[in-house]
Amino acid sequence: MCGIVGYTGTKNVSKVLLDSLSRLEYRGYDSAGLATLNGSDLYLTRETGALKNLEQTVIDFPIKGNIGIGHTRWATHGEPTRYNAHPHADCDDNLAVVHNGIIENFLELKEKLIKYGHKFRSDTDSEVIAHLIEDYLKKGASTLEQAIHCTLMDLKGTYAIAAIWRKEPDKLVAARN
Ligand code: GLU
Repeated sequence: MCGIVGYTGTKNVSKVLLDSLSRLEYRGYDSAGLATLNGSDLYLTRETGALKNLEQTVIDFPIKGNIGIGHTRWATHGEPTRYNAHPHADCDDNLAVVHNGIIENFLELKEKLIKYGHKFRSDTDSEVIAHLIEDYLKKGASTLEQAIHCTLMDLKGTYAIAAIWRKEPDKLVAARN
C-alpha cells in the first residue's frame, strides 16, 4: 500500500510534501513523486527507490509553488520504474493525478481513450484517471471537480486520488472510494 498527500498554503510546497511522504514510508513503496503548480506552471518529478532519491532530485532541480500533490507507489500494474511512478499527467501536461489503489476496469477505459486519440506514457492502471479527467474537461466540464466527478462514475475499484490542474491553480481536488 502506498500513500498520497496534498498541500495548499504559504509554506515551501516541496518540503511539506516530502515531509508528509516520509511519514507514510512505513507503509512500504517502490517509487515516489511530486507535482506542484506555481501559478499556471506545472512541475512534475518522480524517482524510483527510496524517498531520499526524490529529495535529492528536488535539491538538484528545485520545484516551486504553493500547491501540490505527492505519492509513494507500491506497484500493482506496471514495473516499479520512473515512467510508471506517480503523479501521472494528461496528454498536454495540463493536470497531474496521484492514485492509491486499483482501477479494475482500466483496460477497457484505456482502449477507449486510445481510440479517442489519447497517448499513454505508462503501464499503470492509474494513468487512465488523468486522461479521463482531460477528456471530460475537453468535452465541456468547466471545473476540475466536475471533470473528476464524471471520471469517478467511470471507475470500478478502490481508490484514493488527488489532482491539480493548471487552469485552476489555487485548487486541489481529492476523492476516495
Ligand atoms: N495501481 C497503481 C499503480 O500500480 C497504484 C498502486 C499504489 O496504490 O501504490 O501504479
